[in-house]
Amino acid sequence: MRLIIATGNEDKVREIDEILEGTGFEAISMEQAGFDPDIVEDGTTFEENALKKAMAVHELSGEYVMADDSGLCIDALDGAPGIYSARFCGEDSTYEEKFKKIFEMLADVPEEQRTAQFVCAIAVVRPDGASFTVRGECRGVLHEKPMGENGFGYDPIFYVPEFGMTTAQMEPEVKNSISHRGRALRAMVEKLTV
Ligand code: IMP
Repeated sequence: MRLIIATGNEDKVREIDEILEGTGFEAISMEQAGFDPDIVEDGTTFEENALKKAMAVHELSGEYVMADDSGLCIDALDGAPGIYSARFCGEDSTYEEKFKKIFEMLADVPEEQRTAQFVCAIAVVRPDGASFTVRGECRGVLHEKPMGENGFGYDPIFYVPEFGMTTAQMEPEVKNSISHRGRALRAMVEKLTV
């Protein structure tokens, strides 16, 4: 059975295909499936955005479709940047600029309150139009000095005390085992295959 992944990121599709091994599902990119819809991510939650993306591709394909939406939620900033993580400080800002802005905003926040979580929501739409969402979370502490070369985005400042390192210092398999995306993907597979 094909599961179309509503993303332009082929690495994501490959990673999901590996997780789906042995389930009878095969991950297919939108490009492979021949769909390229214009999707407006104007939801107010991760779940809403993921469902919007999955539904847009399902409406064209009528097949199983999966989409995800994720971001960094900082407790002392009421969950910001949240769904705006990629656009925080403007579309074209670098992550160095985003990090600087975050620590300016946290200037008066004591170190022990600089907690945050990565959140990932995944939506699946089935061929009959029924849908479900799952959520994965990963808690950590913001580290003012960026550390590590792996990963992407906010990983260099996302420190996980249990591991004594940032998610940018983790090997990919280690990050997958505790990350918001890894957790959401495993929950999604469990629900998809019952
Ligand atoms: P997306 O929904 O997966 O495209 O993620 C949106 C944004 O959230 C990314 O552009 C990053 O800024 C941030 N983000 C999501 N997941 C991660 C992660 O695992 N590490 C670092 N940043 C992340």
